[in-house]
Amino acid sequence: MRQDELLALDAEHVWHPYGPMPATVPPLLVGEAEGVRLRLADGRELIDGMSSWWAAIHGYRHPVLDAALTEQVGRMSHVMFGGLTHEPAIRLATTLVDLAPDGLRHVFLCDSGSVSVEVAIKMCLQYQRSLGRTGKRRLLTWRGGYHGDTFHPMSVCDPEGGMHALWRGVLPEQLFVPAPPSGFATEPDESYVDELARAVERNAGELAAVIVEPVVQGAGGMRFHNPEYLRVLREVTEANDVLLVFDEIATGFGRTGRMFAAGHAGVTPDVLCVGKALTGGYLTAAAALCTPEVAAGISRGELPVLAHGPTFMGNPLSCAVANASLGLLAEGTWRDDVHRIEGLLRTGLAPAADVPGVVDVRVLGAIGVVQLDRQVDLAKATAALVERGVWLRPFRDLLYTMPPYVAGDDDVARVADAMVQTARVA
Ligand SMILES: *Cc1c(COP(=O)(O)O)cnc(C)c1O
Repeated sequence: MRQDELLALDAEHVWHPYGPMPATVPPLLVGEAEGVRLRLADGRELIDGMSSWWAAIHGYRHPVLDAALTEQVGRMSHVMFGGLTHEPAIRLATTLVDLAPDGLRHVFLCDSGSVSVEVAIKMCLQYQRSLGRTGKRRLLTWRGGYHGDTFHPMSVCDPEGGMHALWRGVLPEQLFVPAPPSGFATEPDESYVDELARAVERNAGELAAVIVEPVVQGAGGMRFHNPEYLRVLREVTEANDVLLVFDEIATGFGRTGRMFAAGHAGVTPDVLCVGKALTGGYLTAAAALCTPEVAAGISRGELPVLAHGPTFMGNPLSCAVANASLGLLAEGTWRDDVHRIEGLLRTGLAPAADVPGVVDVRVLGAIGVVQLDRQVDLAKATAALVERGVWLRPFRDLLYTMPPYVAGDDDVARVADAMVQTARVA
């Protein structure tokens, strides 16, 4: 089909993320992708500064990931997971337990990040119920978070970003404390620590769990915070029979400079959600990991099972490619790469601080953010970036990048420069 025909059909039938139907800004048509390059159907090449939303950490068409997938297709692409099991899933669960913070021993595989958050919440509610604590049915989180687009995860997204006003009466009403003070290296704020602890203590009777994104709040605003707040949450939840869930769907697998962001705080949550980069961005897969205490609690309940079972749970193709991606991470070069990209982003984005309208420039691990004093003009910004050969997807007042770990120095520098230039025009 011709490109214009394809785009006309796209406009007529295809609904894109967070957009109206029909779309107001037409998408770009991608023909193929390799390494850190997206090749558009019209021949233009763009450096991918988004890793396809945190996922493609090793870049596109990686020979090891391609081979793992091809090999698995030759055995079986899928079998149901109820009553059956297979080596790719067993290996994946075992590796995840090895990599995750100590104490998380059990793995529930599922098909997307939002579903893993649903499973994590179900685990927590059911655990409390099993222990006879029937009043503990609510969740507490801090503002500025993002946990997915299905309904229970939406209820713990930032109320404004998640448009809770629109969903009043539909979403369960959860408890919110203010967003953690900004800055990874900023000294912890004592009054915030008190507020956090008191909110959990005061509401302990109705709280099943606290759920947060550790260290980096992603789609809720790309904010970083001091890991000390996570240690506070760990202590106060434990002392009050409240479970702690870390949503590491964005931060997991090295992005912040640690394998998991929880590593910055040195704490283990009761439940951990992973997704996005799990398969190196090849296929959709996610998981909720939990401790033996959570599993044992659920198994002692009136309904001694976790009543959840997505059709494509443990899909062998996604497990095989996830195993290959984790194998690449096990080689360890990601650490140097993330560190290298962090340095390049710090240098490359520094000039943005002097651009009128820029209110903050921040970098942590392989994540770079330029925050403006107003909403980014998406069409204008995209055009300015594409003109410089760079693919980014700004949102709200943010220009941000999280490039594949394999991005070369020149590519990272070009992404950073394009962000600085775009901050001037958009
Ligand atoms: C992307 C994301 C999710 C949702 O994952 P999906 O795979 O898009 O359903 C949940 N939590 C966080 C922190 C995320 O970044």
